[in-house]
Amino acid sequence: MERFVLASANPHKAQEIAAILVDIDLLPRPTDVADVDETDDTLEGNARLKAFALVNATGLPAIADDTGLEVDELGGAPGVYSARYAGADATYADNVCKLHEAMIGASTRTARFRTVALAGFPDGTEIIGHGVIEGVIADDPTGDGGFGYDPLFIPTDGDGRTFAEMTLDEKERISHRGRAFRALAAGLRNRG
Ligand code: IMP
Repeated sequence: MERFVLASANPHKAQEIAAILVDIDLLPRPTDVADVDETDDTLEGNARLKAFALVNATGLPAIADDTGLEVDELGGAPGVYSARYAGADATYADNVCKLHEAMIGASTRTARFRTVALAGFPDGTEIIGHGVIEGVIADDPTGDGGFGYDPLFIPTDGDGRTFAEMTLDEKERISHRGRAFRALAAGLRNRG
């Protein structure tokens, strides 16, 4: 079984990812490897930075991901800056509050979550999986589950509930991250 180091130290995400990448031995990020500054202006660029920082630190293949919420009314913002939308130290609640206010009176509420999942190898090669889910921004935050912008995101593939009103299973079956990691898993299987 091939071994990869996983860049995400978030236990909730690591659990989701491990459930999808069942053919892979996923190792947690070594605690002495510092977080990488996400300085690129694309999701793919940031996923690459995170993966290859770990490849270089460990000599092992590594997997990283980056996600953004693109809101059409806001010209695609917050996008790659989703974690920092309300400022450098913004909490999830701060970001939800800022987006809720920015969308009052919006003429269109369409949006999508986009994830890039990237596996980097010590020889410099990489495999990428993309995942997108279309939806709309709710008029008001609804639901207590999930994290991040979940209380404001109503997926088009769902039944009108926000991600924060779904169980983890319901969300991951259709989510951007689930789709990106299933695409990555298929790419890794094809690589042999
Ligand atoms: P990351 O690249 O996965 O760290 O995601 C960047 C930011 O996007 C996070 O800080 C969250 O605000 C938001 N985000 C990522 N995934 C989700 C999700 O599944 N639901 C809601 N918000 C998310």
